[in-house]
Amino acid sequence: MSALQKFDAIVIGAGVAGLGAAALLAKDHGKKVLVLERAPFVGGRTLSYVGKGNKVTADGIEMDARAFRKSLPYAHCYLAKCDPPIEVIFDKGLLDGRTFEAGGHGLFWGNKGRVDFLMKHLGVSHKLPLNRGLGFVKWTEEGQPTTQYQVGKGQPYKWMSDEGYASTMEQLTSMATSTFDDMAKLMRTPLQGWLEQRNMHPEAYAYIKVLAASQTAQAEPALTPTGDFLGYMSIAGQIRMNLVSGSVATADTPGCIAIPQQFEKVVLAHGGEVWRDTPVKEVLIEDGRVVGVRIKGEDNDYEVDRVILADKVICTIPPKYMFKVLPRKWFPTDWVATLEQKFWGAGLLTGWYGMKRAQFPDAGIDEGSFVYMPGITKPEEGFIGVVDMVMCDFTAFADGEAKRGKPGQRDYYFSTALTDEEMRNPKKVNRVIELCEAWAKRTFPNWEQDKEFCIWTPGPEAYGLWRPVGVDRPDVKSPWVEGLYFAGDQYGRRLWGGGVDGASLSAVMCVDKMMGSNFEEQIMPAYHRGIPEIDEGADLRDWGRTAPATQGD
Ligand SMILES: Cc1cc2nc3c(=O)[nH]c(=O)nc-3n(C[C@H](O)[C@H](O)[C@H](O)COP(=O)(O)OP(=O)(O)OC[C@H]3O[C@@H](n4cnc5c(N)ncnc54)[C@H](O)[C@@H]3O)c2cc1C
Repeated sequence: MSALQKFDAIVIGAGVAGLGAAALLAKDHGKKVLVLERAPFVGGRTLSYVGKGNKVTADGIEMDARAFRKSLPYAHCYLAKCDPPIEVIFDKGLLDGRTFEAGGHGLFWGNKGRVDFLMKHLGVSHKLPLNRGLGFVKWTEEGQPTTQYQVGKGQPYKWMSDEGYASTMEQLTSMATSTFDDMAKLMRTPLQGWLEQRNMHPEAYAYIKVLAASQTAQAEPALTPTGDFLGYMSIAGQIRMNLVSGSVATADTPGCIAIPQQFEKVVLAHGGEVWRDTPVKEVLIEDGRVVGVRIKGEDNDYEVDRVILADKVICTIPPKYMFKVLPRKWFPTDWVATLEQKFWGAGLLTGWYGMKRAQFPDAGIDEGSFVYMPGITKPEEGFIGVVDMVMCDFTAFADGEAKRGKPGQRDYYFSTALTDEEMRNPKKVNRVIELCEAWAKRTFPNWEQDKEFCIWTPGPEAYGLWRPVGVDRPDVKSPWVEGLYFAGDQYGRRLWGGGVDGASLSAVMCVDKMMGSNFEEQIMPAYHRGIPEIDEGADLRDWGRTAPATQGD
């Protein structure tokens, strides 16, 4: 081994969190940063592709059907049903001109999301077009027709009874006034029991449950910390954004991968380096302090390892897998066991349909809408609970201004939250795909004849490796190893939420902890910041009271 280079900080992983943290360190703290990424492209789970002829590209890497299939595991996804087969989709050039994601990537709060605030601070930008509208499709029985509803601003939810709607509004408005203290206190309480205790109307419960599943990407309320869900409700109340007026964004071409790419530009502009195709083999720790990392050397024939020195390392590998590079002996055995054995994957099953023409108008649904379909499976089908589904047409976002395809091209994304275990069971995955397709055919009369292709990509650990309710997320600074930090969608004791939004805040918190800065307050408005640390025995708010009316979805 030979020590070749020394950096102020090394970041393991070039996803949203890794490149976000590296950009802050390089630009705002003048640090010499090295980002090491095992994949041939940046982005991590934020992986998007652009079709070009009979190939696709991601971060400049050209791929045929085989390479595309092989790239998906970098985003924790795999290829399931494709129609026609993926080779035919590529050979026929059906993806030409289309931008698409390995996963779903609905970005919360569009230009008011954490990721956008971070981009603005770093002096970069990318267009994040918003949805506008909320559709709801009710389906009681397989083989039966569905009923479609468009939710009007301030209008009753027509699929509900008067009592159900009143109960829903009462609950949503009460939740929309939750404070960060409320959230912090309810981080250890499962959402299911908390919702049940509130004795709401069954229609309100069904709606709030699907809302929670789509916001937190948790398949089941029993697995969701209440505080994580309340954060979304509280923001909606504060920034007056909801699905009806628009609160979910996509990214213009080349897709959501543009976000980490923008962060990379900042790193490079401030003297940092990003090395692709460079898996870290081990974080080197001596006497309880980080001293650097070990990577495979350039001379692959002889497997010569190479050491790069730094006394600060940020690891963005998701919690369950961090010990692939961190020597276990430096950490408490029960902590390692909890992360490796108890953390579980919040999976998202994404189906992407290339269509010849718009489908929503055929069903009386506005084109830019986000559509909910709760309870697509029945409890007796062996899923952990009933499974809910959401769908949208990204090309119709921003009133059709989203640049994600050639003019006139349409794409419909299905997204369904399942657990990692369910997602690794082909029978369950295929059953949900079958039901989504049956639902679409029942809802949109021309679905089959207008379909050009579909690509399904189950992601067993898409939305991160979540903690069991009651367990803290690993913090952004290791209490056991000096110089070791963590960033990512599941790191930070004070973090709430997840996904791209969570990864962005975690990156900021990580850099603050390392450098003693307070970018959390400088960059993020109050509603995006972390929750306060609370005493274990703190009293809970009286959730019985009702707050003034706002629409909180
Ligand atoms: C199917 C799917 C759908 C999703 N839908 C949404 C959504 O709708 N909305 C939303 O907000 N989020 C969504 N997400 C989640 C979102 O993509 C992630 O939360 C976010 O990208 C996490 O970023 P991160 O930087 O924390 O982690 P990652 O992106 O996982 O970054 C970790 C990086 O570390 C690299 N790495 C791992 N091991 C090593 C090593 N040994 N050496 C060097 N590098 C290494 C990885 O390759 C990766 O690049 C979805 C994800 C998927 C997969």
